[in-house]
Amino acid sequence: MTSIQDLFSHNRAWAAEMERTRPGFFSGLTKQQKPKFMWIGCSDSRVPANQITGLEPGEVFVHRNVANVVVHSDLNALSAIQFAVEMLKVEHIMVVGHYGCGGVLAALNGTRVGLADNWIRHIQDVRDRHRVILDNMPPDKRADALVDLNVIEQVVNVCVSTVMVDAWAKNQNVTIHGWAFGVHDGLLQDLKMNVSNAEAIEDAYRNAVQAVIAARH
Ligand SMILES: [Zn+2]
Repeated sequence: MTSIQDLFSHNRAWAAEMERTRPGFFSGLTKQQKPKFMWIGCSDSRVPANQITGLEPGEVFVHRNVANVVVHSDLNALSAIQFAVEMLKVEHIMVVGHYGCGGVLAALNGTRVGLADNWIRHIQDVRDRHRVILDNMPPDKRADALVDLNVIEQVVNVCVSTVMVDAWAKNQNVTIHGWAFGVHDGLLQDLKMNVSNAEAIEDAYRNAVQAVIAARH
């Protein structure tokens, strides 16, 4: 896939093949979207939400940014989360990091990359919060550990957002999950950071951070 023209011809072939094997697929999609899942992932081209999970158009609501960060004042992410929870009534939100993440590596090493430094500063906050854990780890394990820790922290940020505070106060059934994707093997790891109500945040957080430490010693 090298030229823009290739993208259009691929698209036409894909649409024709879908319509041939499943007549009415697209007209069905025009009626509504009813995804059960929301994916908050990295913009990295190697981590495509639908392909990794085998989900089709209409099955997962996606928000991606550099290093899958959920910032309390980011109206883009918060609007997407609000729409997913309040309108679409998704039942699961997955925050998905990935090993080898350029944003996380830049944060770990303090590499300057430009405007994005200000965005990556949020991951450096995660690094600094867990400085002792990272320092006590073999150097070659720190990058993967920070990927996991970043996911765990961003799950907390979703959990304490006004959207989730309000949804759980109404006993809405939504679980927030923390996952990490292996670009090297194509597999998703469950970071055991699964939260279904506000009371469960603290225990889940403590256990998930402990699991990161245990996995890398
Ligand atoms: Zn990334």
